[in-house]
Formats: sequence, structure tokens, C-alpha cells
Amino acid sequence: MSDKIFMSEILTTDELKDFGIIANASIRTKEFYRIQKIISDIYLKTKEAIKLSKGPFYAEIYDERGKLIASCANSVVEDKCSICHAEINAIMEAHKKIGHYSLANRNLTIYINAEPCMMCLGAIMWSGIRTVVFGVQSKDVEKITGFDEGFKPDWINEFKKRGIKVFGNIESEAGKEILKDYVLSGKEIYKPRR
Ligand SMILES: [Zn+2]
Repeated sequence: MSDKIFMSEILTTDELKDFGIIANASIRTKEFYRIQKIISDIYLKTKEAIKLSKGPFYAEIYDERGKLIASCANSVVEDKCSICHAEINAIMEAHKKIGHYSLANRNLTIYINAEPCMMCLGAIMWSGIRTVVFGVQSKDVEKITGFDEGFKPDWINEFKKRGIKVFGNIESEAGKEILKDYVLSGKEIYKPRR
């Protein structure tokens, strides 16, 4: 984890921006350190998932008390299904656990090693998840891997309008290295032929 030390108790979007963090809301500094730690753990889980021949993406959902609700890797290749992204798998698991079509009452946060693609943004919006925390930005995922993350005009502001907080580009250098290793290892870049 990086050794950034923040002096203020609350970090505004501008302060976060100065440190290269994308955000549509302010956050308590203590809380920011906590989400940074979870993203770093998710990078480790991504590495483990790759060893098990899963995709290089991993998502976890936590409730407001810090209880883990869902923890899933991308399983597109394994399940032979184009929609089995980590976020979709985690949202499905959360619905099963909570037993309702809306997750809104639980004040949930989804953590992902990379920015959600256009499909997963839609799924997050429909799920009732309140906060999104991600690592590597889509533009970097595309540059490194060749995956097509889709078109997502101004999604972070659109989420803000809907009351969904977003914090991204967290510890992203570590996240990028894992994606680079995935490509170097010759694993599958699963995408449809155009
Ligand atoms: Zn996705």
C-alpha cells in the first residue's frame, strides 16, 4: 500500500484529486484508509483468482458494518458466459444472501480491482448498491489488456445524481501490474470478434 499521509479529517473531492483519486463525494480520512486497504486485499485475491484460471477481475460487496456479503472473481471463461463479470457474480451472490431484488436498505459498497464496464455500471445502478470503489481505470485496463470496456459518458457524475458515491484509481499502480502479468502469461482476452 502507498504511504500517502493525509492531514485533514475529511478529504474533499479536490483534495482527493490532488492525489490522483477520482471521487464524486468527500470521505472521512479514516474511511479512505480503510477502503484503500480493501482494494489492496482485492488485488491479492485477483492474483489468486488468475492462478485458478479465472478472469483478471475481482469484486467484493460489504455492508456498512464492514461485514462481507459477497466475494467473486470474473468467471467468463470458466462459465462460458459473457456476462459473468466479477461485479455481476458478486451482485447475484448478494441478492441470494439478502433475499430481495433491491440491496438499497443495506447501504452496501462494491469494491472492484478495476473500473466497472458499461454492463456492470448498469447492474450496479439497478442493484441499489450505494458506493463504488475501484482500482485501475478503464482507459488503463484497455491499454494494458485490449478488453473493450464500453462507452460510459460521464458515469461518475450520473451516479452522483442518483446518490451513488464513487471513489476510483485507488492504489492503481499495483492493480496495473497484475493486469500486465495476466497479459504476459498469455491468458485469454475473452471478447467477441467484431
Ligand atoms: Zn463488467
